[in-house]
Amino acid sequence: MKVGNLTIVPIVDGTAHELIEAAVSHPDGKVWDCVDHPTDENGRIRLDIGSFLIQIKDRVVLVDAGGGVYSDEGTKTGAMLDNLRRAGFEPDDVTDVCFTHMHWDHVGWSTTDGQITFPNATFRLHEKDWSYFMTGVTAVSQIRDLLMPIESRVEPIDAETEIIPGLIARPAPGHTPGTTIFLIHDAGERALLLGDTLHTVGELTEPEWVGMWDIDPVAAGIMRNRIADELAESGDPFAPAHFPELAFGRLATVEGMRKFTWAH
Ligand SMILES: [Zn+2]
Repeated sequence: MKVGNLTIVPIVDGTAHELIEAAVSHPDGKVWDCVDHPTDENGRIRLDIGSFLIQIKDRVVLVDAGGGVYSDEGTKTGAMLDNLRRAGFEPDDVTDVCFTHMHWDHVGWSTTDGQITFPNATFRLHEKDWSYFMTGVTAVSQIRDLLMPIESRVEPIDAETEIIPGLIARPAPGHTPGTTIFLIHDAGERALLLGDTLHTVGELTEPEWVGMWDIDPVAAGIMRNRIADELAESGDPFAPAHFPELAFGRLATVEGMRKFTWAH
């Protein structure tokens, strides 16, 4: 996706196939019928996993870091470093890793066998996610083990910040306490990386759907609709973390309804 003179490159790590009822629920029990993001013959929805790379002057930025090497019945990840190299970059080249939040499928490549995978990178993440996932009763031991080696490299985010010119971190809590979206801008153009503020196209066009993986579903629902209103108003391209092929879309309002199109 071109944004002014910048390019956002999706780096796929793998794919998950989740039962639609594991991803979203509807208060009136509506059956999923989103034509832009359909389920397969087994009622599963495709959700890709990976990262977005943006080169800004001498900085090489990753937004999220995939799931690492993992597989189960419906999910397989592990291709991110190969795809990073295919895009022309080595792990050493990465200067900044920005996390939208700290679920496993966004931080997976942070370390490999206890060593930092991106040895020259500063890791930027919201301090509320660090406390939630790393400390106290909400800590997740696998995340803690994976991320302890990066602790001295973490640059915490606690408010909207322009991390480097052209890259803005904006807290958008709900999915997790520290969920953060990233705005990329250049030469009057803008695109948004939305993390897991939403997972499916249907959540944008029909505001009633409730995300099943949200830690605070009420706050996440309000946030999702606020973001959707902004996207429909601006027409800016955006990519949540899990659209198939990590694709971008656009939103518009047509006759009072939100209309989605894939952006190419
Ligand atoms: Zn996710």
